[in-house]
Amino acid sequence: ESLTVGELAKKIYREPSEIIKKLFLLGVMATINQVLDKDAIELIAGEYGVEVEEEIKIDTTDLEVYFTEDSAESLVERPSVVTIMGHVDHGKTTLLDSIRNTKVTEGEAGGITQHIGAYQVVENGKKITFLDTPGHAAFTTMRARGAKITDITILVVAADDGVMPQTVEAINHAKAAEVPIIVAVNKMDKEAANADRVMQELTEHGLVAEAWGGDTIFVPLSAKTGEGIDNLLEMILLVGEVEEYKANPKRKAVGTVIEAQLDKGRGSVATLLVQNGTLKIGDPIVVGNTHGRVRAMVNDKGRRVKEAEPSTPVEITGLSDVPQAGDRFVVFEDEKTARQVGEARAGQALAAQRGEKSIVSLENLFEQLKQGEMKDLNIILKADVQGSAEAVAASLKKIDVQGVNIKIIHSGAGAINESDISLAAASNAIVIGFNVRPDVNAKRAAEAEKVDVRLHRIIYKVIEEIEAAMKGMLDPEF
Ligand code: GDP
Repeated sequence: ESLTVGELAKKIYREPSEIIKKLFLLGVMATINQVLDKDAIELIAGEYGVEVEEEIKIDTTDLEVYFTEDSAESLVERPSVVTIMGHVDHGKTTLLDSIRNTKVTEGEAGGITQHIGAYQVVENGKKITFLDTPGHAAFTTMRARGAKITDITILVVAADDGVMPQTVEAINHAKAAEVPIIVAVNKMDKEAANADRVMQELTEHGLVAEAWGGDTIFVPLSAKTGEGIDNLLEMILLVGEVEEYKANPKRKAVGTVIEAQLDKGRGSVATLLVQNGTLKIGDPIVVGNTHGRVRAMVNDKGRRVKEAEPSTPVEITGLSDVPQAGDRFVVFEDEKTARQVGEARAGQALAAQRGEKSIVSLENLFEQLKQGEMKDLNIILKADVQGSAEAVAASLKKIDVQGVNIKIIHSGAGAINESDISLAAASNAIVIGFNVRPDVNAKRAAEAEKVDVRLHRIIYKVIEEIEAAMKGMLDPEF
């Protein structure tokens, strides 16, 4: 970054007096011990035709630095990674099982499948990876931890029930993650099924069917009879082709933990999704805050494998500790580096546990705004009835403080639940409860994630508080 005149002279094999003279001619009075800034160094170096190469220091304990982009030539197509979301009882589990049973066993000798948190199927000769963990919390918890692993979301809506609160929740989770949505209109085998109604209701949430001039794909199907499932898989392939998901199988693997647990016999067992590169037996690896060597690898069919390519889920053993879902993993050249990085991360994690996490709260909002760290104030709004949620939202949107945008990323009726908290943590949002409170799980989650939850009963109090926070005039809470 900076050098003294003497040091610079040495580096470019010149006499210090010569440099001092040059500087003098450029209008800078300098001595041999004068510290030169970057501009001055570049100026002098330029005079001598020397190029200044900056040494870039990277934090090697931050696993994200290894998730680098690859050159276009090295990239090849990879399977899409798909998550299924939707309202409870609309058929997520049935759909996941049905896809798996109709597809996985085709051509698989024995067909023994095990649940490792994800599986792959083949459609028209192409693979698709499904994350076998339905639930918005799982989806968003991963995102909160910085891991973007889902390429496509399948939104399951029961044709006999229509759009329900968790349907809307799922839409908002997917939108916040900027993941394309395919709508599976499920239970079409039922007498009361009405696909048009589902399409109509989803229009209100910005999902307009292609037939109606929009760009959202709707697939009517029955998870129970299997009717329409092939069509859904074809649509997933289509979106994959359009979005061109790619990776470089020739590099060292990086990816994310889907699940992990301690197994009595095998020790730490983790399901990893390889997102780039190829994971191999024996690879020195750092996973979250733990490290080791890939001892054994088992695929979703329960078969031992030696390698796992991009978008492949595999279960591995050989880690010194149990990582967490959403943790990143990186393969290193040698075991020594993996151990160093792993141990440094374990140390940092301990230190961080004692320290504080920086997340938005109304108390620090003004600071964050001032430092330009934030432009949007993300809000999750829950109210006792839909009507009051809308009224509060409308009033919030009217707040006008220069340089700040109020963005309501999710609103709805009902108690503040765990999913609201995980969405808030993932989106750096605050949660407002209007005539509602957090349930027990949400309360616990909010404390753990340090999400700011504000409860009110009077609209103008909500507005007053948010406005004051935006202007940096919030009274401290006692
Ligand atoms: P989840 O809560 O979204 O995972 O929903 P489930 O997969 O557990 O399904 C809830 C109920 O709906 C179960 O009793 C299923 O058997 C039933 N179900 C799911 N898909 C279909 C379908 O396509 N047709 C019919 N008739 N029932 C279905």
